Amino acid sequence: MPYAELDALKEECGVIAAYEVGEDLPWLLYIGLFALQHRGEESAGIAVSNGRQLELARGPGLVSEVVTSACLQQLHSIKPRLGIGHVRYGTSSDMGADNAQPLIVRYLQGSMALALNGNLTNTNRIRRELEENGQIFQTTSDTEVILNLIARYRREGIVTAVQRALSQVQGAYSLVLQSDDTLIAVRDKHGFRPLVLGRLGSGYVIASESCAFDAMGAELIRDVLPGEMIIIDQNGLRSERLLGPEVERHSCIFEYIYFARVDSVVDGLNVHAVRRSLGRILAQEQPAAADIVIGVPDSGVPAAVGYALESGLPYEEGLVKNRYVGRTFISPGQSQRNLKVRLKLNPNRHVLEGKRVVVVEDSIVRGTTSRNLIRALRDAGATEVHMRISSPPYIAPCYYGIDTPSASELVAAKYSIEEIRQMIGADSLAFLSLEGLLKAVPIGGNCLSCLTGKYPVQVCQERN
Ligand code: SF4
Repeated sequence: MPYAELDALKEECGVIAAYEVGEDLPWLLYIGLFALQHRGEESAGIAVSNGRQLELARGPGLVSEVVTSACLQQLHSIKPRLGIGHVRYGTSSDMGADNAQPLIVRYLQGSMALALNGNLTNTNRIRRELEENGQIFQTTSDTEVILNLIARYRREGIVTAVQRALSQVQGAYSLVLQSDDTLIAVRDKHGFRPLVLGRLGSGYVIASESCAFDAMGAELIRDVLPGEMIIIDQNGLRSERLLGPEVERHSCIFEYIYFARVDSVVDGLNVHAVRRSLGRILAQEQPAAADIVIGVPDSGVPAAVGYALESGLPYEEGLVKNRYVGRTFISPGQSQRNLKVRLKLNPNRHVLEGKRVVVVEDSIVRGTTSRNLIRALRDAGATEVHMRISSPPYIAPCYYGIDTPSASELVAAKYSIEEIRQMIGADSLAFLSLEGLLKAVPIGGNCLSCLTGKYPVQVCQERN
């Protein structure tokens, strides 16, 4: 994660689901969600079902704050057979506690719960149409729009209802849905957001990232394919194509650079291995005359190790992260912001004093925190600071599920690399090339829009 949240790309959400994984199902969902906590700290929730009843624990906060032991007992009490969970990074428009997921709907014959990771681009219009037909919404979330669409078609069976509802929405998403006795997982047709399928005992699990499976003791089977709908019910698991013929894949390349946890496997590639390669290639492309290499925790560290291995310079722990300064840390005003930054990520003077330092970071978004970081490294005794970025310049906003600043706030969209170097106060600044990035992620079919400014999938400006 970049030096402070001031300059970060905003994490997306994380989803999880389990079907017939034994009597510990709520607990397993809980620890799986724990492993996905890095994908969102604003709210968390778990919904479970035994085929007749649905139980829900949901609210603002970290997983450990929302799903208390009393909640877990309550979830266990109905002896559930299936369930889903969610962690959320709220965007400015949906920060309210009501938007915590999973969202549920109860109707005469049963209930449904839905959790979604992504960004839908045409839900304002659908919401208006539903409202004109008398639908009342409890939240501002896209997820409720989809849930209402599905509920509208539910008499046609849950699979058809999901297909009909999703044929109307556009955007980048992965979702999990449970009806009373069926679990459904869908990845959008371009596969922007990740989703993986795993096995646990005789049951199945689904998650945004495979690190959740490791925590649950489950085995990764494969990625859910773009445009694939996985259905798990009493007849077992089956797969259907959701939306017509196969189209080009555009999986988010920033999962490798920044979002995913290093122990996850995304589209068949281990994230740690990719980040190390990014660092190695960066060292080949952009060497620096320096004494040590340091990484900006967390995502900059494997790239820094790769840079050190390739360059022959020693890797040192030059920045120490305090893992307990999170969302809830009280920061009363602007003047305290720098103190918070230092509390969160402290330069290690013992390592830095008198050294020419290469500092490896995953990306520069606004540039403000890079400036703070470099100042802090110099204050801690670094004689030179050479900044190396393990991705190409971030020049365009993301419309595919990541909450990024507008183009006017993206420093690389407005200034040359030399101008940015001067602004952040580095002795040198260099980025990985696009070719270098694609060498480290050789599978093809990745979205690169924020790095190229080209949007191969039409962007509807009706942002929600
Ligand atoms: S635009 Fe960038 S952040 Fe958004 S999906 Fe594409 S690669 Fe990921």
